[in-house]
Amino acid sequence: SKILKNNPHYTIVTDTTFPPFEIQAKNGKYVGIDMEILKQISVNEGFTYTLKPMSFNSETQAVANGQADAIISGFTITDERKKLFDFSEPYFESGFIWAVRKDSSIKGLKDLKGKTVALKTGTGSADYAKSIQKKYGFDIKYFNDSNTMYNDVVVGNSVACFEDQPVMQYAIKNGIKLTIPKQKPANTGHYGFAVQKGKNNDLLQAFNHGLKELKDNGTFDQIRNKYLGGDQ
Ligand code: GLN
Repeated sequence: SKILKNNPHYTIVTDTTFPPFEIQAKNGKYVGIDMEILKQISVNEGFTYTLKPMSFNSETQAVANGQADAIISGFTITDERKKLFDFSEPYFESGFIWAVRKDSSIKGLKDLKGKTVALKTGTGSADYAKSIQKKYGFDIKYFNDSNTMYNDVVVGNSVACFEDQPVMQYAIKNGIKLTIPKQKPANTGHYGFAVQKGKNNDLLQAFNHGLKELKDNGTFDQIRNKYLGGDQ
C-alpha cells in the first residue's frame, strides 16, 4: 500500500552547507542527517529526486514559488512559515544561540552594544536576532551561508553570529574557532521537511510514512548518532 504510484521524480532543495544536516563531502556528494533520512525514505517509499543545493534564502523561495517540490534543510517549523509551506512531522529539536570568537571578551548580549553581528539571510536565528536588536543595540550584517558567516566572526569583522545550536556546536567541534557563551537557546522548535502549501501532498504523506518507519525501526537514531554521537 504505497502512497506514491509509478516512482515519481522530484526536485528537492537543500542548503549549500548546514552540517551535520547537509554536508558536502570531498567528492562533491551531499551527506548528513537530512541527506541520509531523505535517501532512505525515497528508497522505501518509491520516489527519486534531483537534489539542488542553494543558499537557504533561495531554497525557501524556490519551494514557496513552486520552482522546487520540497525542502529538507534543518528547516524550522513555524506558524509564520505554515502560511507558505506544509510541513512533515517534526524530526529534530533545535533552538537558536549566538557564538563569538574563542578569545572574545563578550560574555552576554549586553556586550553587543554598538558592535556588528553576522546573520544568515532568511533564517530563524536571523529573525530572532532582529527581534532583540533594538534592545541590545547591535548592527547587523547578512550572509548567504553558515560558513562565510562564521568566518566573518573568526577574522574579527563581526563580533558574533546567530545560528542553530546543534549546527554551531558541530562546527565548533570540527574546528571552527568560535565558542558559545553560557546562554539558554532561544525559540526552541523542530525541523521538518516541507512542500509548497497545498501542493505535493502525496510526497509529504510519503515522507511522513517513511519517517515513522525509520523512527520505529531504529534507523533514524542510527543516522543521528552517526553524526552526533551521544551529544543530543
Ligand atoms: N533552522 C533554521 C531555519 O529554519 C536555519 C536553517 C538553515 O540555515 N538551513 O531558519
